Amino acid sequence: MPTYEYLCNKCEHAFEVVQSFTEAAIEVCPKCSGEVRKVYNNVGVVFKGSGFYKTDSRSSPVTKSEKPADKTESKPEKKVEKKVVPKTEN
Ligand SMILES: [Zn+2]
Repeated sequence: MPTYEYLCNKCEHAFEVVQSFTEAAIEVCPKCSGEVRKVYNNVGVVFKGSGFYKTDSRSSPVTKSEKPADKTESKPEKKVEKKVVPKTEN
């Protein structure tokens, strides 16, 4: 089971908790009941699920900007009509 490190925002009390993925994150400091935040120091643990990143939860999906017209407007080739004017040398 991964070890999560928490840090209290209030009293800066740091503590580690061994939790499974399914366990709810600890939100209050056992010392002062202040708000704690998770400190991510576990490399290799993929945090799937909601609620880990407050800022992530509301991230809007990447705005799909309409594709720039990749249709290169094929301009009709200008047919240079060469008018063959017969030289009349008379
Ligand atoms: Zn605290």
